[in-house]
Amino acid sequence: MHDNQRRDQRWGLAVLEEMGLLLRAPSELALDLEEGFEDEVTVRSQSILDPGHTRPVEVVEEQDDVELAQVGPIGLEVGFNPADGKPPPAGLIASLAEFGGVLVDRHDIRAELRGRDGVAPVPAGKIEDPDAGTDQSGVRGKPIAGPLLEPQRRNRCIDGQGMNPSARATIWDLTARRLDVLVIGGGITGAGIAREAAMRGLSVAVVDRGDFGSGTSSRSSRLIHGGLRYLEHRQWSLVRESLIERSVLLRIAPHLVRPLSFLFPVFATDRLSRWKIELGLTLYDMLALRGNVRRHRALSKRAVLEEEPLLRERGLAGGALYWDAQCDDARLTLAVLRSAAAHGALVSNHMCVTALELEGERASGATIEDRLTGVQGTVHARTVVNAAGPWVDQIRRLEDPAEPPLLAPTRGAHVMVPRNRIGHQHAITFLSPIDGRVMFVLPWGDRSYIGTTDTDSGDSPDHVVATETDMLYLLRSANAIFPNARLALEDVSVSWAGLRPLLRDARGSGPGARSREHSVSTGRRGLITVAGGKLTTFRRMALAAVDQIQVSLGTKPIPHDPSKSRTATEPLPGGDAYRVETLFARGSGRGLSERTVAHLVGQYGSEVPTLYEFIAEWPELREPVHPRHGAIGAQVVHAVRREYARRIDDVMIRRLSLAYETPDAGLAAVDTVSRLMGRELGWDDTRRREEVERYRELASAIPRGRTLLSDADSGS
Ligand code: FAD
Repeated sequence: MHDNQRRDQRWGLAVLEEMGLLLRAPSELALDLEEGFEDEVTVRSQSILDPGHTRPVEVVEEQDDVELAQVGPIGLEVGFNPADGKPPPAGLIASLAEFGGVLVDRHDIRAELRGRDGVAPVPAGKIEDPDAGTDQSGVRGKPIAGPLLEPQRRNRCIDGQGMNPSARATIWDLTARRLDVLVIGGGITGAGIAREAAMRGLSVAVVDRGDFGSGTSSRSSRLIHGGLRYLEHRQWSLVRESLIERSVLLRIAPHLVRPLSFLFPVFATDRLSRWKIELGLTLYDMLALRGNVRRHRALSKRAVLEEEPLLRERGLAGGALYWDAQCDDARLTLAVLRSAAAHGALVSNHMCVTALELEGERASGATIEDRLTGVQGTVHARTVVNAAGPWVDQIRRLEDPAEPPLLAPTRGAHVMVPRNRIGHQHAITFLSPIDGRVMFVLPWGDRSYIGTTDTDSGDSPDHVVATETDMLYLLRSANAIFPNARLALEDVSVSWAGLRPLLRDARGSGPGARSREHSVSTGRRGLITVAGGKLTTFRRMALAAVDQIQVSLGTKPIPHDPSKSRTATEPLPGGDAYRVETLFARGSGRGLSERTVAHLVGQYGSEVPTLYEFIAEWPELREPVHPRHGAIGAQVVHAVRREYARRIDDVMIRRLSLAYETPDAGLAAVDTVSRLMGRELGWDDTRRREEVERYRELASAIPRGRTLLSDADSGS
């Protein structure tokens, strides 16, 4: 054995010891491993037609359990552990046939409205220029008064948004009564907190100054993962927690979070040896235990090249195949918010907090400004939660201008390139030959994105973009392991970048080593700040935050197992069981191609029938909105009616992803989208033109390696 192998092995044993595994009896250890590795069943969802059944039944088969859900009013789930990976016994299926009923629309769940006496507020600090009149991406936009100011809309606020969780809460909805909780920030963190709080019966509102998810939560690497590289920093509990969350999200949002295979090639010159990678992946599997997607497989050099023939052969030592999950981050954030609204939360995008309100020495609400109408108001709340991601320090300074910063953000950038230029089969995890950092090449339909960078950043969170240096670094790193790709700046169809809201640590760790843990802290005047964390762990952050909120409200949180709480078991909108065959049959009945139905099922899951209803109402909605993209008109209507889209970029960037997935940033669709949105929202021609113009400016401000194709080019 070579010296470095011995060193590696010692390191490995130390790691195992740290995990507590070596300190336990071998029988216990074996049990743990067995638990983690048994039932390696490929994750799949399968519809079955049981002849004894009066109603459709869905079998969702996962790694460790088979869930059987009858599509009916009683959400009946039976989980059991198939030792042999077979579907559940016929007797079990038959016994479910006794239950019947009609389809439930989970969005009809009404909130209990609890009025509270208003208390005269005192304004605290004020955000001097919270990007006033400027949108998220830095293009000037005027407040637009319009149908939202109509008197009948004002009256609707009497009953609050609980009457229609699909509607964006207006300023009147938000200011009509005193809430238990006001959440500032509608990224994944704020969305998760609103859902958790609403499910615990608290009255809650969540506001975002831009669109939901328009901050960091639509600029991630889109991975729902344990974070293999955090093993290097020995962050066991973070990895373990993230892996549990991965299995929760795969279960409650199977349409949005999907298993993905990763190939990790190892080259002789890499700073991590094959041995270390193998050990790391073994730990990764072990930490996932019963929630594992699939156990990793070590690969010889030849096996690596069989899986990925276009990888660089020179210096290749071998590798491994392992599994994680990928999601559409913006749509996941939306789904969490919609679930919160279904449980009674008021949710409002384009609603900016400009100042905190104080009652005595306590934060008791906030001044808000509706950026679509320019109208201002005051929200009264017993607790105020700061979930503003990279903006949390800005909000904390409203409470106390002397607060030292909590965050040390780093910028991360991605570039999107044509997938066939790289020609990879799996997602690729690799060490950048430039600086040894862990990087990814990730598939996204017929494209691939390469990410990410991790550099200290003093950028304002309002304007974060990938620089040319970022793009070149990413392309060169990928070219080094896929030499035939020869990617150049011109191949970059789009880029995106975000600021990781990482916690500042006393040790002054470098960007890569900075912890991805989260913190929940309470300020001098009671402002609860939730900072740090990852997309993957949003539910854990929410659990901790709402526990803290309850303490602040004077109620004791009930101890709970995070993996069994209601937020872990109740599907997100679209995540209920559904029969794929039925969706395809109904889709073709509406004149939709199989490709379009597949596209819809992949994004809306069990909610696809709602889109069919829109098409029945207006057959034009079955038509694609862009010549090079699968999105259809019904999705635009869905975005407005059920997903709070109010501006064109809400639809083009975060609901339909046209900005990322077309060579012209979706420009060929912008007229159709504006017409459909205009019809839904009552836009006149002037407003429509303003929106189109605004989007054109936004699209041209996104850094890419080549000029945008014209509409005509993109349609050819
Ligand atoms: P944000 O999403 O930024 O939300 C904060 C919101 O607050 C914003 O929408 C903003 O508009 C709003 N706001 C700010 N000020 C105000 C105000 N005055 N009034 C009202 N609203 C306000 N995590 C993973 O798990 N997997 C990954 O693959 C991954 N990849 C990443 C890659 C990159 C490049 C980056 C940057 C991060 C990545 N992360 C990943 C981390 C993850 O994306 C973030 O931790 C997460 O999105 C942060 O969410 P958030 O809600 O806290 O912040």
